[in-house]
Amino acid sequence: MSELEINHVYKDYKLGNKSKFNALNDINISFEKGELVSIIGESGSGKSTLMNLIGGLDSDYTGEIKIGGIDLKTFKEKQLDDYRKKKIGFVFQSFNLIPHLSILDNVTIALTLSDVKESVKLEKAKTILAKLGLENQLKKKPTQLSGGQKQRVAIARALINDPDIILADEPTGSLDSATTLQILDIMKEIADDGKLVIMVTHSEKVASISSRVVELADGKIIRDEIKPDYQKNEHKDKLVEEKAEETTEEKGGNKPKKEKHLSVYSAVRLSLHNMWASRTKNFLMALGVTISLISMILMLAFGSGLTGYIDSLAQSYSNPTIVTVNKVDEMADDPSGGMGGLGGEIMSLLNPTPFTDEEIPQIIENINSALEEKYPNIEYRVSQDDIKYGFSAATGITKSASINFTVDGEEKSSNIFYLYTTPPYYTEEQMLAGELAGQPKLDEESGEMLGEIMVSAKIASEMGLENYEDAIGQIVTVKASYGQFPNAISIEQKCKITGIVDVSMFETMLVAYLDYDYFDSMVTANGGTLSPTSLYIQTDSEATTDTINLILSGMQGYTGSVENQMASMFTEMLSTFSIALAIIAGISLIVAMIMILVVLYMSVSERTREIGVLKSIGARKRDIKKIFTTESFLIGLFSGLVGIVFAGVVGGLLVLLFNSILGFAPLSFHWYYFLLALGLSVVISVLAGLYPASKAAKLDPVESLRHE
Ligand code: ADP
Ligand code: MG
Repeated sequence: MSELEINHVYKDYKLGNKSKFNALNDINISFEKGELVSIIGESGSGKSTLMNLIGGLDSDYTGEIKIGGIDLKTFKEKQLDDYRKKKIGFVFQSFNLIPHLSILDNVTIALTLSDVKESVKLEKAKTILAKLGLENQLKKKPTQLSGGQKQRVAIARALINDPDIILADEPTGSLDSATTLQILDIMKEIADDGKLVIMVTHSEKVASISSRVVELADGKIIRDEIKPDYQKNEHKDKLVEEKAEETTEEKGGNKPKKEKHLSVYSAVRLSLHNMWASRTKNFLMALGVTISLISMILMLAFGSGLTGYIDSLAQSYSNPTIVTVNKVDEMADDPSGGMGGLGGEIMSLLNPTPFTDEEIPQIIENINSALEEKYPNIEYRVSQDDIKYGFSAATGITKSASINFTVDGEEKSSNIFYLYTTPPYYTEEQMLAGELAGQPKLDEESGEMLGEIMVSAKIASEMGLENYEDAIGQIVTVKASYGQFPNAISIEQKCKITGIVDVSMFETMLVAYLDYDYFDSMVTANGGTLSPTSLYIQTDSEATTDTINLILSGMQGYTGSVENQMASMFTEMLSTFSIALAIIAGISLIVAMIMILVVLYMSVSERTREIGVLKSIGARKRDIKKIFTTESFLIGLFSGLVGIVFAGVVGGLLVLLFNSILGFAPLSFHWYYFLLALGLSVVISVLAGLYPASKAAKLDPVESLRHE
């Protein structure tokens, strides 16, 4: 039985237009161990094609290729990968070393693919490299070696797994004559060590030292000459140790050991080498991801920061032991109504509906019975004494309220957009300046009884005052009308401004506040009856307040305080806004993902040759996929880490900036934003890497090796 037997092998290359090109035509030949075979022939005669078939790189042929009596055609993909890894050693004309790996890593790559221990790898590589005179080059990169050195490295790589057959396709084609002789000596030595060496060559001189010359022409063998005078050089120091010796460690016990493959550690190491080799490109790509991650984190932080700020503002305007009840415009509750949803809520805020006299006892009753039925733990019951009234009207719409004042002897007027009565929980702490307005008092200067009013800073500026504090103490005439035409009552009253209300987010509004009892007495004095638009229930505890608020939210037609309503409206608007921002950030992430995809895709075509080499060495599809996926994972991880660090730094700076300008920072960072960003970065990178990785895995090894 021959080591290698080829029977009736035909190879056709399929050309585009359904035609074929016949590259090998009925090849019949067999080879034995220890032969040093030169294959010669014109360019295009089919030499490389034959080598690729023997090497298991190309399975698309007819006929038999038997290795040790076993037909290659019977091999499954896995066995074929294994065959390339263990049985065959390839040496190429253009060396095909992997540029970003060290000499040591290049030589041991086949062992890496089998997950051999580092120490064993180093030991083997050192031995072989020493025999080839390269013991001092372990750490170098391929570009730092001469052509002859590179080819010796390639030979070391081919020998590392102690294959039975060495296939060398024009190994001396790129070398000068002196180096050619060196390489030929090595090839001869390998053959003399008992391996089958098949070498493609152009030169008759190279052929002349071999033990056998096979000549191809147009896909046929036209000469097969065995040299009777071939001198086998016996030498002690074999290039590769005997197979049995070195595999004892792997064989171990009696159980057939599971075949080992590229480990995650090695995949990471290989990826890191390559990423470092193209670090500028990777850095720029990471920058793109980083920017979208930073914007995503900042947008989330702004969203939650602003919401939190508005919530806390609403909190500061309410008292935890007071329940506010307002009526909701019917339209707001009717989803089919034109003013449903947010629009309806705004309408009911602008035009609060007054409570009727019968309604208030009914509300008390409803709340109390709900408390009794559903909340046995709460002893508190609402009584009429706990209730204070409030009134508010968006007078600006009908221009039914205004403030008249005198500037430099000239009469001026400003509308009051909102006329409110001061809620019972409102304190001077919540005002910008001055005191709460109360009952009319005797003014010492004029000897008149003057009403009291608070205004917003905007009204102060309407009065032509630079500082709103200057409005305090000013005497103005307040004109308001109350009720519906024709029963509307006109009120005109001289008032003194006692304080400036803080309307924070509605700072551009013309707002005035009066004491409820005072407003009531004015309406009554003019022949009307004031109906409240708000009820304030003083409860016994925060828990009771929360419970009653819950009961109210289940009662048709009623709602909580204006401030809370406004706050919830704002947070609702804000969350819509944050969703929009998040979508933008999401789009930028998708863009980053496409960018990663493009870069990885390009890197696959840049590394086509490398992939071909890996496959010729026995890398499985899965190994190639693993290397590329690991790389995209690492890109995602690095970009993510850089992104969150930068987001932290930028976020911190923004917080400082906002604090120094506004006195508060509308950003709040949660740890899970960073985790989310990191996770997303890894996920999108891995997703983006899937396609290039599977493309790389599917590359045809022969074509890849031919790739320029
Ligand atoms: P050699 O190595 O002897 O120079 P090859 O084995 O590379 O020749 O090629 C043999 C013939 O097959 C040549 O004519 C070449 O053009 C053709 N050939 C090689 N590869 C392909 C391919 N992928 N598709 C079509 N024709 C090919
Ligand atoms: Mg060729």
